[in-house]
Amino acid sequence: MLTASDLAVAGLTPLSTCDWPGQLVATVFLQGCPLACTYCHNPLLIDPRARGTVPWADVADLLERRHGLLDGVVFSGGEPTRQHALRAAMVEVRSLGYRVGLHTAGTYPTRLAQVLDLVDWVGLDIKSVPQLYRAQTGVDAWAKAVASLRAVQRSGVAFQVRTTVDPTVQAPEDVAELTELLCGLGSRSTCCRRRGRTGRRTSTARRCAPRAAVLGASRLDRSAQARLGAERTAHASTRRPSARRSTRSANEIIRGSCVETMAVMPSASTTARSRAITAVPVSVSS
Ligand code: SF4
Repeated sequence: MLTASDLAVAGLTPLSTCDWPGQLVATVFLQGCPLACTYCHNPLLIDPRARGTVPWADVADLLERRHGLLDGVVFSGGEPTRQHALRAAMVEVRSLGYRVGLHTAGTYPTRLAQVLDLVDWVGLDIKSVPQLYRAQTGVDAWAKAVASLRAVQRSGVAFQVRTTVDPTVQAPEDVAELTELLCGLGSRSTCCRRRGRTGRRTSTARRCAPRAAVLGASRLDRSAQARLGAERTAHASTRRPSARRSTRSANEIIRGSCVETMAVMPSASTTARSRAITAVPVSVSS
């Protein structure tokens, strides 16, 4: 029987304010991904044969020391649902009193459905319009992404659909088409993030999503802000050698988070269909 210790963990961020909107979380990056996105920020995490570099014990140790400071744990990647030990890890995280978030590109809809009862929030990356999926990711994974969207919708779990726009692959018309497709599929929360190196708003970004607005970091409520200050103090004062190793490991692997964040503003027609659009902060995509 698999346990959390069977997970191949490639990185651990002890504190993140942007991987789950409005929540203070630790983010666990899992090794292996079936896609090869043109803009991948974490190429070292793609190889499914690579071994993990962070023992699960380091994750458990961090969570034991962060009670009352963190809201939850986000499993990211790589593609977290690729690993069969994910469920065991989620059970352990919940038993420690934390909420569970999940970043996924929806490439394993059946496995995703099997863990949704343990998940409080899903960030679902839908990469492109169907005809450009292979150009964007190397795989024709549109149907699986849609099956995953359906599974999340059926589960009732809160979710957000995200798209990172690579202007070298997707034209503004493609982004507009994808937005309409996702609205047609009942996505209540859609955001686009433009691939970029500086994170600065550019005319290209505006061209890519004509109805988009560039947004800042989502606001934390007062309680979360107070815990963020306490968490930073605790992290600085209790940092252990193993935690330092984990942070370095994550920082070495999780490269670059300079993507612009844009919320796709509803058109008149989508407003009529009551599409709720939410803002998310700049974040590394899974
Ligand atoms: S961006 Fe995410 S889904 Fe795409 S190849 Fe990289 S890890 Fe996989």
